[in-house]
Amino acid sequence: MSWIVHKFGGTSLAGPEEFRRVARIVAAPDTRRRAVVVSAPAGVTDRLLALLDLAAETPLPTRLAALRADLVALIDALVDGEVRDRLVAELDGDLETIRAIGASTALLRAVPAEAWALVSGFGEFWSARLLAAVVSKGGEASADWLDARRFLVVGSAELGPVVDWTTSRERLQAQLADSPAEVVVVTGYVARTAAGSPTTLGRNGSDHSASIMGALLGADEVVIWTDVDGVLSGDPRIETEAAVVPRLTYDEAMELAYFGARVIHPATMAPLVSAGIPLSIRNTFAPERPGTRIEAESDGSHGAKGITVIDRMALINLQGAGLIGVPGTAARLFEALRQAGISVVVISQGSSEHSICVAVRSTVADQARTVIEDAFARELERGQIQGVEVQDDCAIVAVVGDGMRGTPGVAARLFGALGRAGVNVRAIAQGASERNISAVIDGADSARALRAAHSAFYLSPRTISVGLIGPGQVGGQFLDQLAEGLEWISADNHVDVRLRGIARSRRMALSESGIDLVRWRDAVAAADEPSDLDAFIDHIRADHLPHTVVIDCSASPDTAERYGDWMAEGIHVIAANKVAGSASIERFREMHRRRRKGGARFLQESTVGAGLPILTTLRDLRTTGDRISKVEGILSGTLAYLFNVYDGSRPFSAVVAEARAKGFTEPDPRDDLSGMDVARKLVIVAREMGLDLELSDVEVESLVPPRFDGLDADAFVEAFAECDAAMEERRATAAAEGRVLRYVGSVTTDGRAAARIEALSSDHPFASIDLTDNVIRIASARYSENALIVRGPGAGPAVTAGGVFADFLRLCTGLGADTDPGGLN
Ligand code: ADP
Ligand code: ASP
Ligand code: MG
Repeated sequence: MSWIVHKFGGTSLAGPEEFRRVARIVAAPDTRRRAVVVSAPAGVTDRLLALLDLAAETPLPTRLAALRADLVALIDALVDGEVRDRLVAELDGDLETIRAIGASTALLRAVPAEAWALVSGFGEFWSARLLAAVVSKGGEASADWLDARRFLVVGSAELGPVVDWTTSRERLQAQLADSPAEVVVVTGYVARTAAGSPTTLGRNGSDHSASIMGALLGADEVVIWTDVDGVLSGDPRIETEAAVVPRLTYDEAMELAYFGARVIHPATMAPLVSAGIPLSIRNTFAPERPGTRIEAESDGSHGAKGITVIDRMALINLQGAGLIGVPGTAARLFEALRQAGISVVVISQGSSEHSICVAVRSTVADQARTVIEDAFARELERGQIQGVEVQDDCAIVAVVGDGMRGTPGVAARLFGALGRAGVNVRAIAQGASERNISAVIDGADSARALRAAHSAFYLSPRTISVGLIGPGQVGGQFLDQLAEGLEWISADNHVDVRLRGIARSRRMALSESGIDLVRWRDAVAAADEPSDLDAFIDHIRADHLPHTVVIDCSASPDTAERYGDWMAEGIHVIAANKVAGSASIERFREMHRRRRKGGARFLQESTVGAGLPILTTLRDLRTTGDRISKVEGILSGTLAYLFNVYDGSRPFSAVVAEARAKGFTEPDPRDDLSGMDVARKLVIVAREMGLDLELSDVEVESLVPPRFDGLDADAFVEAFAECDAAMEERRATAAAEGRVLRYVGSVTTDGRAAARIEALSSDHPFASIDLTDNVIRIASARYSENALIVRGPGAGPAVTAGGVFADFLRLCTGLGADTDPGGLN
């Protein structure tokens, strides 16, 4: 007869709905007999242990009554009639026993170990009886229940309970001989000693019960059912990105469990290993999912399998010159700890042998200090050992995986990630098996450390947290373009984009898991949080994501002012906003100083010529050693349009009014006509050429006389007709010489810069451009006889957003992504 063992934890037995669910799983057709090991219903073991608390404020009868009420309600919800009455009667018998034990421990003023064991184990009996009743009632499979104390004999040892296999197996066979049931529900956690007293396998010991059952029965398989999809790569309560690990070896599972992954009890693996029984961890609430399979053989995968953290650790450091070259020091240290029954979680000794440090649980830290001080009393007295230093409030992060053996760079990746997250590492240990690398850190850092380490091993190293400021014309188009490109960005280039926030001037939308790019407009519409740049940046810069970029598509000086602060913290900035690039040279330098400190990038291609590759071209020329002598061009799409259309058939002011109506100018056309927009772009260009140009150094010809300053935009457009005659005269004079008027910006290496109307011969490259085209001419040592010309549409949301997108991809490339979308290679 073959067997399968199922085990259900307390979370899978929390209430009537859960019991029904579990009954369905175990009653499902199976050719094998099923042993079903159960824990107490969620929380019941804790409540039972609290019953014997001698100092409790609430009297025992009151607590017993509350427990009884909850359990009777559970029984009532699931079974009725005779079965119900029998279960309640059995429950009352147990509660009477507890009451009696409570009374006697109150008299003794002490709780003997047997009393703890007996009382804390009742929850498993209640689960087992009730589940067997629910399965029987369902009628799909015959069911019975079995008290593990009738067969499971264990002794206690330093490292936990030791099973008497021969006796236990014989007794189990005898018990089973009496029961033909297809489903045998067995109490987890509880056992008996050789002398027949009640004992337990320790807190959370039901997992261990299940594997012992598996070994006793020679089962095909053991399945531990819980409330998560399997063993996860990190504790899901801390690490939101944790993913199911499909396969683990026994060794890996053991290390993970030992290092605090609560999902399996560390002792669980041992009984399965020698018999080679596979273990699965599956989700009671999603039984269709495959879960995690644990067996002897590795799936051959490399790298880390899981990352865990144990909190409440203390680091003990034994230090002194007297330790150098003295054999046996470590042995004495561990012997002292062993004799006191203190288990050491991590050991680390520097190769100088000047110090040895061990990590133990905080609860035994003081005791550990005392025994070590006793053991080394002589050396301490003589000053050969300086002292025994204890740092409490530590935690251990451990990275586990068989495949880390022989995979170079694992440690570097862990410590690099911890360093970037600002986690201070106090001690390091790597087992010679290379299955586990542990770092002792400050307890306060434990969640941050887990997240940082987790992302270093599990997330794509190219995961980037994106925050967008200003989802207007350009920002909105950029998000649309990004949404469209997302598939190839992630599939071909392995860049994992997380849009974690969008900020408008009044409200902002934040998301933990990432705003759906296709529906970003809904997120913006639903945004109800008042905008606060600091809170926004705090959210975007998620410790657990490797990279962060803020994309500023606003025109706000407030955001530009903070780029330096952000970049100092390693946040990359992509700006469509010209303010920072054209700020005073002092501010600009300060921003870059801070940027270098944080190792961040600053990209602003779209500030000049929209999507045209102007700044990148300048940079490429410079970095490849060319010497740029002059850059000039038409840098304003609006002014380009005005002078293209203006042919004398209509007054210049009428052309301006029409362009304004078409949306080709700023709402107040003076922003374009003043030439300041061109001047700002010239400053940005000049700095890309390596010049320290200030905005005030640019000689700017404004098309708007200062006398219009007081007018509003509408009044200005009307009054602007006063300037028509002068403009027409310039145009006509130029035309008589075969020239046209263009608004041209220029910068030369000697630092001269100007933005003004020029009369150009009609075969000049700037003369025959289309509508809002920008054109730029670069003269350099290489491009001396024939200048390099970049020309094309230089305004409009789509092309400007394209420039932002190009910056974004450049940034991704810098992070190590392959952003070549060409499918050919
Ligand atoms: P049960 O009651 O089924 O024994 P537990 O609460 O003891 O369940 O253990 C399951 C819980 O362990 C999960 O809900 C999860 O919060 C926690 N956990 C901690 N680390 C991990 C991990 N690495 N993988 C899966 N779960 C983990
Ligand atoms: N019910 C026991 C406990 O809470 C055993 C278990 O759940 O595994 O510790
Ligand atoms: Mg458990």
